[in-house]
Amino acid sequence: MVFNSSIRYLDEGLRVDNVDIEAILREVGTPTYVYSLRRIRENFHRLKSAFAATNAGIHFSVKANGNLDILRVLGDVGAGFDCVSGGEIFRALKSCAKAADIVFAGVGKTRPEIAYAITSGVGWINVENLGELHHIDTIAAEVDAEPVRVALRLNPEVTAKTHPYMATGHGAAKFGLTVDVIRAVFSRQERYPHIDFAGIHMHIGSQLGDTDATLTALGKLLALIEDYPRVKTINLGGGLPVAYRFDETIPRPDRLAEELARRLRGYNVLLEPGRSIVADAGLLLAEVLYVKRQAGQTFVVVDASMAELLRPALYGAHHEVLPIRHIEGETVTTQVVGPVCESADLLGRDRQLPPLNQGDKVALMTAGAYGMTMASNYNARPRPAEVVVDGDRWWVSRRRETFDDLLRFEN
Ligand SMILES: *Cc1c(COP(=O)(O)O)cnc(C)c1O
Repeated sequence: MVFNSSIRYLDEGLRVDNVDIEAILREVGTPTYVYSLRRIRENFHRLKSAFAATNAGIHFSVKANGNLDILRVLGDVGAGFDCVSGGEIFRALKSCAKAADIVFAGVGKTRPEIAYAITSGVGWINVENLGELHHIDTIAAEVDAEPVRVALRLNPEVTAKTHPYMATGHGAAKFGLTVDVIRAVFSRQERYPHIDFAGIHMHIGSQLGDTDATLTALGKLLALIEDYPRVKTINLGGGLPVAYRFDETIPRPDRLAEELARRLRGYNVLLEPGRSIVADAGLLLAEVLYVKRQAGQTFVVVDASMAELLRPALYGAHHEVLPIRHIEGETVTTQVVGPVCESADLLGRDRQLPPLNQGDKVALMTAGAYGMTMASNYNARPRPAEVVVDGDRWWVSRRRETFDDLLRFEN
């Protein structure tokens, strides 16, 4: 079974590029995130060439995966970064990103975060509050910065077909500014002498399976900026979908890219993909701790949980579960659960899996996006190790946390 160019399940088991997962397991144990750098580069290049006709600048959304090795690799191939907090800007800068290649977004930026972004010299601030404009203008004046390039974030009042927690562009969402508010700001630009209103931004959600909502929203955006020729940069956010199921096909980005190229001639285009660059390059390894047959069900308790991978509990998200070595036997309907004291700690519901036993290792697939970045220490669980694979080589990118790490910030 071949998942993608980097992750394959051959007779002998699961491989990431040229590395046998067993080799990683022997040295690092479980739970552990593993990422293919080769796949990440390839995903980036695929998007870059799909959107070549619009010459889109691709800013990787750091909240999908903030691992420094991954940020470095993406910086090396020419990505910029989309950051939604001061901490993410710090991470991106530590990975050697140029500040000018960073866009700073977010519904609730604090004054210190805005000051940090401006003094660091980030390329853009995406704004979605009027109060924020005031902060930006006064801080830029105080530190004598160049006019700060701002893209107002439009809330196009379009509902994307995705999980409700991943939709951000409908009228009732907390995100963005409505058309009338943006018009009012544009007509009063002189009030903000230290702001350069050069762009417009939108991001209507994540895991967007059909492009209709995006194109409808884009239509509204273009109608808005028609009257403001100074707005030459359009940032269309992220949201490109990923296949999480074996049998799922997702639309290729090419059709969307074509539509965009037709409509966006003459504009400078930015994109902020996160998931579509890292999700299918990552997996989470876990060990079977116990098998319990109870109430007519088979529970497989593994040593990964909602603390390491929150998506199933948060969104009811699906991650395929694969034994990392082939196991003989008829498949059984299995509940794959973690050890955390929450009924929501169910990583795989009703999965058809071969008979698993204590000590078997499994992989939760397509876990490279919103996995480690959402991991917590809930139940005082040390966060997992992160391993990166680059062709034949692999190394521990972030070591597993220890019990001592759990106490580090307490007196
Ligand atoms: C989360 C987010 C993204 C990335 O979304 P993906 O679905 O991972 O591509 C991009 N832009 C903004 C403003 C976001 O909040």
